[in-house]
Amino acid sequence: MVITYRPKSLMEALEAIEFIDYTVFAGGTDLMVKRKQLAGLLPSFDKPVMFISDLAELKQVTIKDGFLYIGAACTFADIIENSLIPEIYKEVFMQIASPAIRNSATIGGNICNSSPAADSLPLLYALDAALVIENSCRRAELPISDFITGPGRNILNSSELVTAVKLPIQSFEKTCYKKVSSRRSNALSKISFVALANIENDVYKDIRIAFGSVAPTVIRSLDIEEDIITMSSQHALDINQIARDYATLIKPIDDQRSTAFYRKEVCNRLLADFLGNYAAASLQL
Ligand SMILES: Cc1cc2nc3c(=O)[nH]c(=O)nc-3n(C[C@H](O)[C@H](O)[C@H](O)COP(=O)(O)OP(=O)(O)OC[C@H]3O[C@@H](n4cnc5c(N)ncnc54)[C@H](O)[C@@H]3O)c2cc1C
Repeated sequence: MVITYRPKSLMEALEAIEFIDYTVFAGGTDLMVKRKQLAGLLPSFDKPVMFISDLAELKQVTIKDGFLYIGAACTFADIIENSLIPEIYKEVFMQIASPAIRNSATIGGNICNSSPAADSLPLLYALDAALVIENSCRRAELPISDFITGPGRNILNSSELVTAVKLPIQSFEKTCYKKVSSRRSNALSKISFVALANIENDVYKDIRIAFGSVAPTVIRSLDIEEDIITMSSQHALDINQIARDYATLIKPIDDQRSTAFYRKEVCNRLLADFLGNYAAASLQL
């Protein structure tokens, strides 16, 4: 028998996890797959389970001091329907799973599951998202890139919850999101690509590029982005050089979804397509 607990407030939840090692259950769309057993058997949970999906404190979307906060237990359906959410976020989240899964799957679960194929992550990296992490006596904020340490791994300990995602409010003139997968819905990414940019007179003023599913964690390089801005300001954007620089970071694997070769090729083409579209560039892919 599994012991379950449904706290009535965030503080009650945080006090409970301080003393008992619970499995935190948000939408359960990753957990129920991970814990499934042979057909006919119930999923296996070896620890007590705490349900957090109804905690009002984790369901809010708010703007404060120039930041957008998305509560960790907001489902992707909640987020897509919220009028405070920018279009590019909606474009990304609309391609996660299927409508039925998006009704349960939370942004906090997507982050805490920390899969290299988690589709919210490239966007969150590109936006310089931070996570709000709380235990019963402390609240901290941490860049998402410092939170995820490897496939399925992050720095959260058992007495902490991710309570919100914090995003600087900013706008980008050029945005691109591509999820490459076998089907339109309910398929994990072979590759995902996010590019956000601001451009003036053919020159990149700000550019953020992130790749998902092609390395143990999301690939984003501030150094390469800085090089793109510099090359672009000199009207000498060399896409082949930029692709070579990213190639040192993009380390895909062969798996049941795709091959490393295909993933590398598609990354190069998505990159070249985005960069070539908006600024004068040299290209010989
Ligand atoms: C059919 C199907 C299709 C899918 N398609 C996609 C897809 O296209 N793209 C994609 O990215 N994912 C996909 N997924 C995976 C999954 O739906 C997402 O990762 C989802 O966002 C997980 O959220 P959840 O609330 O269900 O997490 P849960 O399963 O409840 O939890 C996941 C993990 O995070 C922990 N956790 C959850 N919330 C918190 C919190 N606030 N603080 C601390 N720890 C927490 C849990 O303990 C658990 O370890 C799919 C899953 C299924 C079943």
